[in-house]
Amino acid sequence: MKGENFIAMISCPECGEQISDKSKKCVHCGYVFAEEPVEKTKEESTQQVEVTKVNTKPKVNMRQIIIAIVAAVVIISTVFGVKKVQEQKAIKAAQASTEYGEKY
Ligand SMILES: [Zn+2]
Repeated sequence: MKGENFIAMISCPECGEQISDKSKKCVHCGYVFAEEPVEKTKEESTQQVEVTKVNTKPKVNMRQIIIAIVAAVVIISTVFGVKKVQEQKAIKAAQASTEYGEKY
């Protein structure tokens, strides 16, 4: 009888009660064993991978942003440099005109 009814018993890691290793869930406390939640864990890991991908994108964007900022600084400095030259030319022209006016 013992051989016929033999079921491999394992102790529940949650409550310590003896339960069949074929049962995926503890009949005493309802603890779900690792066999069943593997699918759920895969789903969670997939979600984590998606989150990691989302986190990876800003890192790539950061480099692009830094390159864009450097490019923008170069462009802005060039534009301001040209503006300063134009302003200096305008000031010199204004000063020249006033000098001419005073001289005239
Ligand atoms: Zn249990």
